[in-house]
Amino acid sequence: MPEPRTLFVTGGSSGIGAAVVRMAARPGLTVLLHYGGNRDGAAQVAEEARAKGAEVHLLQADLADPDSVAPMIAEAAALADPDLPLDLVNNAGVVDATATIMEMTPARLTRMFAINVVSAILVARGAVELMRRHGAGGAIVNTSSVAARLGSGNQFLDYAASKGAIDSFTLGLADELAAEGIRVNAVRPGLIDTDIHGKGGEPDRARRLAHNVPMKRTGSAEEVASAILWLLSDGASYVTRTLVDVAGGR
Ligand code: NAP
Repeated sequence: MPEPRTLFVTGGSSGIGAAVVRMAARPGLTVLLHYGGNRDGAAQVAEEARAKGAEVHLLQADLADPDSVAPMIAEAAALADPDLPLDLVNNAGVVDATATIMEMTPARLTRMFAINVVSAILVARGAVELMRRHGAGGAIVNTSSVAARLGSGNQFLDYAASKGAIDSFTLGLADELAAEGIRVNAVRPGLIDTDIHGKGGEPDRARRLAHNVPMKRTGSAEEVASAILWLLSDGASYVTRTLVDVAGGR
């Protein structure tokens, strides 16, 4: 039987996070599956993962409120076996409607940065606490975006800036944890066909812009999940402080 481990995934109720849980599920794996508002989506993903032999626990937290992170970590601490290694896929995130700088309001910026940056950093902090209970090892993959290097002017530069923060955070955290054997990397997806575009008000966005991608198509959640799972795996045992673009050449 493969090694027992715990996998903590935020934003596991749909899209990339759900694909990670589905692909990772196996006997011996305990999944801590976080969701925000989509309980039905989370329950469905959990069922599919259980059918593949994983043990799955659902954790709810609205990450627009960074104070929701500490109770979630306490719940995770009670559920995760301290004797097992733990990995984190720090994936929950939002975009917003297409807007230019003059349309950026304090409320929009505060929500975007609370979810995509402040809560993401606090989730990683909590996961490091859990990893240290085990002693050593574990891996973190943050979900950034190619927007971090493109800037996304005239679309959502606030989102791009929030993912730029995640890139910097990934580099710094990797430096802090490398000597403990905890690897920290990020994936930077390009145009991926998930529900996030509809939630930002433009369901067809990824397909509409696909012609700008050198590979002339959108990516799938599974193609991103595959890179995330590789970064978590022993196959990436000498890979840390790395930002992996999964973007069809964009
Ligand atoms: P998605 O299907 O919309 O998934 C987003 C996940 O984040 C959901 O599970 C959602 O949970 C969770 N989430 C959002 N707001 C939350 C909140 N306030 N509190 C708690 N959870 C919250 O989109 P996705 O494309 O898979 O996105 C996953 C990550 O990939 C994000 O960080 C996104 O920025 C990044 N990304 C996506 C693309 C793309 O083209 N799709 C490109 C680059 C980067 P609930 O629905 O349960 O609230």
